[in-house]
Amino acid sequence: KKNLIVFGTRPEAIKMIPLVKKFKEYPELFSTKVCVTAQHREMLDQVLDFFDILPDYDLDIMRHDQDLYLLTSTIIEKMKYVLHDFKPDYVFIHGDTTTTMAAAISAFYSGAKVCHVEAGLRTNNKLSPFPEEMNRQIAGRIADYHFAPTIQSKNNLLKENIVPETILVTGNTVIDALLESSIRVENYSSIEIENLKQKINFDHKIILVTGHRRENHGQGFINICNALKEIAFKYPEVQIVYPVHLNPKVKNIVYETLSGIDNVYLISPLSYPAFVWLMKKCYILLTDSGGVQEEAPSLGKPVLVMRNTTERHESVEAGTVTLVGNSREKIVYETKRLIEDEDLYKKTSKKNNPYGDGKASQRIVDFIAQL
Ligand code: UDP
Repeated sequence: KKNLIVFGTRPEAIKMIPLVKKFKEYPELFSTKVCVTAQHREMLDQVLDFFDILPDYDLDIMRHDQDLYLLTSTIIEKMKYVLHDFKPDYVFIHGDTTTTMAAAISAFYSGAKVCHVEAGLRTNNKLSPFPEEMNRQIAGRIADYHFAPTIQSKNNLLKENIVPETILVTGNTVIDALLESSIRVENYSSIEIENLKQKINFDHKIILVTGHRRENHGQGFINICNALKEIAFKYPEVQIVYPVHLNPKVKNIVYETLSGIDNVYLISPLSYPAFVWLMKKCYILLTDSGGVQEEAPSLGKPVLVMRNTTERHESVEAGTVTLVGNSREKIVYETKRLIEDEDLYKKTSKKNNPYGDGKASQRIVDFIAQL
């Protein structure tokens, strides 16, 4: 069987590489090739380097200030040549990006079977998050096989009349990557980690922040940054570490509002191993990221999600993730509670992960093998 695994952004790479590696463990059953769109360039390459993956096809589509129209049409057009060249039986796409949606359409045109990894996440509000919810719904409509991370995501698909036999609950492959990396980073040394050790006082509480979503662009990020400023002044010993996403719509606001504050460390996006290392060291995470919401409960780290909605309800229900929205007051209030209330901290920092056990890729490979 010929498999083409397609991804383009940092989180997709982190979540698809475990599957690439797992398929490659069975060369007698599968011929597996990797196609990157490189919707993110630098942040994707960092992940490929760490996991030692050399893509077979690199569409290299990232252009300065590229909009969704151009991104979508370029991916579809370039994918055509890859599909004609390799003629895969199965094309694997992941999650909810423009790469996901455009690669799904291309694969469908080619006649390959479309396999959607991290299928069935829904907010059921087609505009929120934009464009991710529509991307994942389109991918779900096109896909022949759906690898749902949880029962809730399977149920979302069943409500859309997806045939039950085409859905498999696997857990999220992000946990496959995390469990392997979490051990590797214990004895890992890199310039980034040395720099962090020099700058940051690890005897104090570390708040690790990430954010990038379109839904927070503009006023959302202004509120988030003002909240961080207030927290930094209120707790001068707390260290706020913020690897800032490269998107200028995020970067400009963050640097304008938070530069020059003693206990706020604005740094470039970290490579995945350095980020995992820092997650293990931090006290809490403030984020709008999907992947981080899934990873942190495995490390026993409470997460405050700076969004008004999430498609990842399982950890909110488990109590390890709290949805705080993007208002300054709410972010400050909930952070303050976790800094000051030890009992609350203990309750929310249980290692309890509804998203997986590290065996998701094996389940996917076994499923494809028996088709
Ligand atoms: N991550 C990273 N370096 C960073 C911040 C995050 O490697 O500086 C990793 C993180 O561990 C997670 C993924 O990137 O696996 C999340 O990516 P992002 O927040 O960009 O996207 P989302 O998960 O929201 O789709």
